[in-house]
Amino acid sequence: MGYDVIIIGGGPSGLMAAIGAGEEGAKVLLLEKGTKLGRKLAISGGGRCNVTNRLPVDEMVRHIPGNGRFLYSAFSVFNNEDIIRFFERLGVPLKEEDHGRMFPKSDSAQSVVDALVRELSRLGVDVRLESPVADVLYEQGKTVGVTLKSGETIHARAVVVAVGGKSVPQTGSTGDGYPWAEKAGHTVTELFPTEVPIVSHEPFIKERTLQGLSLRDVALSVLKPNGKPIITHRMDMLFTHFGISGPAALRCSQFVVKALKKAADGAVKMSIDALPDVTQEELFQQFAKLCKEEPKKAMKTIAKTVLPERYAVFLLERAGIDPHASAGTVGHEALRAFARQCKQFTFYVHGTLPLEKAFVTGGGVSVKEIEPKTMASKCMAGLYFCGEILDIHGYTGGYNITAALVTGRLAGVNAARYALAEKNGASGSAGQTATN
Ligand SMILES: Cc1cc2nc3c(=O)[nH]c(=O)nc-3n(C[C@H](O)[C@H](O)[C@H](O)COP(=O)(O)OP(=O)(O)OC[C@H]3O[C@@H](n4cnc5c(N)ncnc54)[C@H](O)[C@@H]3O)c2cc1C
Repeated sequence: MGYDVIIIGGGPSGLMAAIGAGEEGAKVLLLEKGTKLGRKLAISGGGRCNVTNRLPVDEMVRHIPGNGRFLYSAFSVFNNEDIIRFFERLGVPLKEEDHGRMFPKSDSAQSVVDALVRELSRLGVDVRLESPVADVLYEQGKTVGVTLKSGETIHARAVVVAVGGKSVPQTGSTGDGYPWAEKAGHTVTELFPTEVPIVSHEPFIKERTLQGLSLRDVALSVLKPNGKPIITHRMDMLFTHFGISGPAALRCSQFVVKALKKAADGAVKMSIDALPDVTQEELFQQFAKLCKEEPKKAMKTIAKTVLPERYAVFLLERAGIDPHASAGTVGHEALRAFARQCKQFTFYVHGTLPLEKAFVTGGGVSVKEIEPKTMASKCMAGLYFCGEILDIHGYTGGYNITAALVTGRLAGVNAARYALAEKNGASGSAGQTATN
């Protein structure tokens, strides 16, 4: 037998798995098809590497809408605070920014990747770059190794599949792992784009009326056909030439994907509350007062006291008010209509950019067939999964990387324990429990 453990994929989950397996004293090989390790990690968080998030575990789970609850067991073994300590130990102290997001103090994604690579080498993990795996090999209900695209076969007692999802394939994640999972008897749930910009065919989008405009701290909602919100996210957003993007839109995107599946007419309604801290009535009263006090001022001058000018002009026109009209000439009904537009400007969206352009892949290897404390396959002995290939997806903000690092750690440690037990002739079985 060549190796105790083979890890396929050098993203955050695979790097962490290789370190975990190496710490257990296993003979480990990390196979990466690209020329570099951690390519996606290096571009995350705007290139500064959003390593994890400091919110309490319950909050973390809430920010991982795709099967976050599956991670409770894993978090009880290794969680975000452990990640922070782990990187500190590797000489990469982290700092907290908005929304609990943790970045390296160096602001350099490469410092994170370099530290992980140094640790691999300290632990004596063999790394082979430009070594794409073509297949995972199983014999009589056990994992026995891998075949490379080159035709070479490498044997191992345990294999950790950490090849990521299908998003941004130029970083190496091209969905190679799903057939290997299916061959072992796993269910792969339907893949879909999440954390992805949203497409709209509304005339104001096609005419690029608001292109490039960002709105700060708005409440963006995806609506049911009856107008009730499915989800609301309060963050920044951006109008683009094809629709909307920015943090609020990315977070809403998976709900748009799901709602579109049910929508008979191929369209889903969204709404923007540009001023979530005031009620419609308060806003109307405020406008009425300003118009009375400054009757000669242009309406757009009044409106821009509360909204960015471009958006204010756009909404005034929607409310049937000439932006150049003198404030004193605008009646209360029109002012109420404008206040309504500020609080609930609704528009239709018709899709998202494709999976390849999404930050994260939704769907994947079903978590029902994975041991939650070890990441062991329930279908095949010696097979482990971690990272984005699993049917787990979170919002951007460090949640996906946290899920990748945590599941990677568990997969690596437990794959090593299984392999070493097998080697020593013990009845090692998939599903042993790791301790931190
Ligand atoms: C631009 C961008 C920004 C992001 N920002 C954030 C963020 O702020 N917060 C957040 O939480 N998440 C973010 N994400 C998502 C996050 O980066 C991913 O969820 C995470 O990298 C997944 O880790 P992984 O190890 O599962 O897979 P990946 O990072 O995709 O790594 C998989 C690795 O496997 C290798 N591989 C694939 N197939 C094979 C094969 N056949 N043989 C050998 N090797 C193979 C690939 O080359 C790759 O190196 C962002 C993603 C992108 C694209």
